[in-house]
Amino acid sequence: MYLKEHELLQIDEKFIDRLREQDPDALAGLSIKLVSDLKEALERLNQNPSNSSRPSGSLAPWEKVTQQEDDDKELEENKSRHPESSDVQDDFTDTADAAAQGVINKPQTDSKDKTKRRKPGRQQGAQGFGRTQKFEVTDTLHHPCGFCSVCQADLSAVEKAYTGFQMVNLEFGNTQTPGVRLIVIMHLYYLGLCPKCGLENRTEPWRAPADASDWKNVGLTEWRLIGPDLAALIVYLAMDMRVTRRKIKHFLWDVFGLQLSIGTLQNCIVESARAVEPVEAQLINDLCRESLVFADETSHPEARYRLWLWVFVSSSTALYLVGYRTKEIFNNFLDALADFNGHLMSDGYRLYRAYLKRLRCWAHLLRKAKGLCDSYTLASQTDGQQVQVILNELINAVYQARIGPDGGTVSIAGQHHESLTKLKKLCEAMAVSTHLKTRELGQEFLNDWEAIFRVLDYPAWPLTNNEAERALRHWVILRKISQGTRSPQGSRALALFASVFTTCRLRCSSPLLYLRDTIQRRRQGLTIPDLPLIPSMVAA
Ligand SMILES: [Zn+2]
Repeated sequence: MYLKEHELLQIDEKFIDRLREQDPDALAGLSIKLVSDLKEALERLNQNPSNSSRPSGSLAPWEKVTQQEDDDKELEENKSRHPESSDVQDDFTDTADAAAQGVINKPQTDSKDKTKRRKPGRQQGAQGFGRTQKFEVTDTLHHPCGFCSVCQADLSAVEKAYTGFQMVNLEFGNTQTPGVRLIVIMHLYYLGLCPKCGLENRTEPWRAPADASDWKNVGLTEWRLIGPDLAALIVYLAMDMRVTRRKIKHFLWDVFGLQLSIGTLQNCIVESARAVEPVEAQLINDLCRESLVFADETSHPEARYRLWLWVFVSSSTALYLVGYRTKEIFNNFLDALADFNGHLMSDGYRLYRAYLKRLRCWAHLLRKAKGLCDSYTLASQTDGQQVQVILNELINAVYQARIGPDGGTVSIAGQHHESLTKLKKLCEAMAVSTHLKTRELGQEFLNDWEAIFRVLDYPAWPLTNNEAERALRHWVILRKISQGTRSPQGSRALALFASVFTTCRLRCSSPLLYLRDTIQRRRQGLTIPDLPLIPSMVAA
């Protein structure tokens, strides 16, 4: 680089005009230096792990997904998944059906993908690996008929076991004999011909009816090799501990001497997701009663599609959704939460403006003001500094109000009328600036003015969207480890487990036990247990 930052700052149109008149040779020399610097800067900008020493982790998720693909091609495909949208980011069509079903509206995968891409897992024609491990049965559980279902005759003398299966499960110890051990339970189902009326009575493991939509080919039944406690542990390791499927396989073998294939583990995780699905209705119901909900979204690759993981979180409840970052998801969320009358905290993403009772995260605004201070235009630097000064003054006022006698429950907007007027004038000037970032920040303030300064009416409200960002952090790390999900079912499972785990943590309760109870009950066709409550919710 020829030119240093402070030199570049002094070079503007006036400087060049002056140089042209006074010393044309120097101007030519400057041009050469500028071109050289520009090329070098562009090269740095275009550096990626494939052409430099940048680590692969520095690549954004969508770059990984679409690196090999032509952008236009992807857009075409996105359109085919969203036939009526002309722009995947902005446009949408309101699907009332989807809203009626719930909040999720995720496009289905193209059937053409299956022919184009190699399916993960065992390929057709490849040698399969059957179960070779033999278990020693530790306990037998009988499922007798007892009495004839028509005439109530006693069948105990005539009925016999006609089918059964082995279930591997965990048994947790108690205070006298602590520890956890693997148990194998033989489940036996009985058949008996009624001596009185001749009816053939028999017991059967419960099976959920086939699901045509989200859970195609995901059976929910008692007839499972993996018992509910073990299933809960597998999900817990995969989601809460972020252990890869392969590592879980090794763990189960090393610790329990249990051989399970990665496919079996994956099926167990997806089945458990189907088991917890009804929890979403409870979460929505709980969110509706909150006075403040934080919202945020982060990118999430599903196979080769770029989707978004959304979170809506309060102090005691979290709801996660995976889908396109379109109005569709947000509007479906608002439809589902039609009874919600609290405030929504968000960043500046304009979709959130659809909700009127909104608070804005100031951290984003301060960052953007800092960005202006670091720009190469003097006027923008001054604007950025002025915005920073006023925002910092207001932040201090909010903090003071919170520790004051009213505890931040009384408006301080009136006291800071002058600063607000000054800021508004500044933003109006910034909104017509020729510098892009300055113009954008000015417009952002003006567009979102009420939401940004609503906190001055009630300083006890938060200034940042930290809660939502914190709620996403764990799942962002999981995304980096797992490279996202591979199917719509995988994404759905991720969102459901994220909701359950985060909500249980927020309520200081064990997600492992809740998950175990849920899987156990749902495999028997029973209703889902209630989510644990915290004292403030019980009082409400
Ligand atoms: Zn009978």
